[in-house]
Formats: sequence, C-alpha cells, structure tokens
Amino acid sequence: MAAVPYTQDNWDRCKCFDCPVHSSSQCISQKMLSMGMTGRPKMAPPADMAEGMYCSQAVGKSDCNDLNGDLNCICPTCQVWQLYGLNERWFCIGGPES
Ligand code: SF4
Ligand code: SF4
Repeated sequence: MAAVPYTQDNWDRCKCFDCPVHSSSQCISQKMLSMGMTGRPKMAPPADMAEGMYCSQAVGKSDCNDLNGDLNCICPTCQVWQLYGLNERWFCIGGPES
C-alpha cells in the first residue's frame, strides 16, 4: 500500500460524496454548511477541513462520530483505491491504512 497524496487529482477521483455513509451523516452536512460548502467542493479544501479522501494520511478519519459503518463503503469503486492498491474500506471511520 502506497501513501495516498492529498492532491486535486485525487480529490476529483474520490467517491466519498456519492457514498451513503457520507450522505447520511448530519454532522458532515452541518460541518460543510458551516464552512460555506454545499455539496462536493470543486477545489480540494485544506486537508484539515476536508470531509472526503479519508484514505489520505493528510486527512485521516472524520471528526464526526455519527458515521454509520453498517452502510456500504464505495471506496472499491474509486480510482484512488485502485491506483494506490488499497485493501481496506471505511477510512472515514477507521482512518487510513498504516
Ligand atoms: S479510496 Fe475512498 S476515501 Fe479514498 S479517495 Fe477513494 S472514495 Fe475517497
Ligand atoms: S471512506 Fe468509504 S465509507 Fe467513508 S465516506 Fe468514503 S466511500 Fe464512504
């Protein structure tokens, strides 16, 4: 597993914004609204504000604690997951692979 660089290209590839775990979190919605973000930001935000690309060591797991790990993680459909040879899922809950 290679470290996942937090880049605009990888941000554009990230599927988290299409994921039921992400979209069902009120905390993530509120946090994004409070930062003036509605929907998926086109430009990658600063890593410490990002709600997406949790597989990157620069971002890490979400601060939100209402993420439902019983819902499907769609990371395996993501080019980042494939390009960097990732194996795990639910990085938003568990953090990046070590
Ligand atoms: S592997 Fe998952 S967390 Fe990482 S960029 Fe893709 S969808 Fe986002
Ligand atoms: S890491 Fe997986 S479960 Fe979490 S928001 Fe991204 S795609 Fe969904």
